[in-house]
Amino acid sequence: MAAEIIDGKAIASRLRERIAAETATFVTETGITPQLAAVLVGDDPASAVYVRNKQRACEKAGLRSTLHRLDDRTSQGELLLLVDRLNADREVHGILVQLPLPKQIDETTVLDAVAPLKDVDCFHPENVGLLSQGRPRFQPCTPAGCQYLLAESAVQTEGAHVVVLGRSEIVGKPMALLMVQKGKAANATVTICHSRTRDLPEITRQADILIAALGRPQFVTAEMVKEGVTVLDVGINRTDDGKLVGDVDFTSVATKASAITPVPGGVGPMTIAMLLANTLTAARLQTSAS
Ligand code: NDP
Repeated sequence: MAAEIIDGKAIASRLRERIAAETATFVTETGITPQLAAVLVGDDPASAVYVRNKQRACEKAGLRSTLHRLDDRTSQGELLLLVDRLNADREVHGILVQLPLPKQIDETTVLDAVAPLKDVDCFHPENVGLLSQGRPRFQPCTPAGCQYLLAESAVQTEGAHVVVLGRSEIVGKPMALLMVQKGKAANATVTICHSRTRDLPEITRQADILIAALGRPQFVTAEMVKEGVTVLDVGINRTDDGKLVGDVDFTSVATKASAITPVPGGVGPMTIAMLLANTLTAARLQTSAS
């Protein structure tokens, strides 16, 4: 049986249209245009592309976006001053600090400095705490994008065994949190794996839904999955010949999976769509709070 290809690009595009319509209504009702401020430190080409894509998506959906570029020798103090300024700016509703940051800057200190109501990446401990208690203020973008793909593809999650590969604060941990919550597209039994996990293939073969977020090109092979598994591939890796590949060996795994996301065109576009949704949520929260 050929696997269904979960078309993240098309699903994200429909979601973005919905966000654009909701944004237009919000602007008409309040006279306020939601604004995302992106902060890019240094000149990492991949980060610059990510930020540009996020900005373009904002503009297409009727949100304002501004870019604050700082050079790679920027000190932590200087970056914190900018974050403070954006926190205080009433016209800025969401703040995105593009990672990674240069070595001299402590990421946690900077992310903790973003005002929780403007934390559209959902990295602030207050927002992660709310999420873990099942009352999220913002959705963690990539994990929420994965959950949305499961819902749109009518994948049964209730009682399913979801295995998450990776325990990062950005993807793995919040992904597991979302899937274990009570509610729609959740209610799963979740296992989180990481680099110290023993006998990984034994665990991945038990997955009804496998979510790979390791940053290891084509790590998950057909031998590691069972027939009929649903596979979401979060990984974005560039091979030596410049090709973009995921954490899953797509060709072999697709022969066993019932549904699978491609790379590119799977999870990636969803991350951006969720960022737009969070920026609109942030504008709503700040408008109702003022
Ligand atoms: P991190 O490097 O922060 O985390 C990787 C995780 O994978 C860690 O928990 C690590 O374990 C685990 N891991 C690494 N190697 C192995 C292994 N051999 N066996 C088991 N576990 C392993 O990465 P991120 O979570 O930030 O990103 C993961 C991937 O997703 C990357 O390719 C990244 O580019 C991509 N990404 C894609 C996004 C999108 O929009 N599509 C958004 C964000 C990320 P340990 O903790 O023990 O070190």
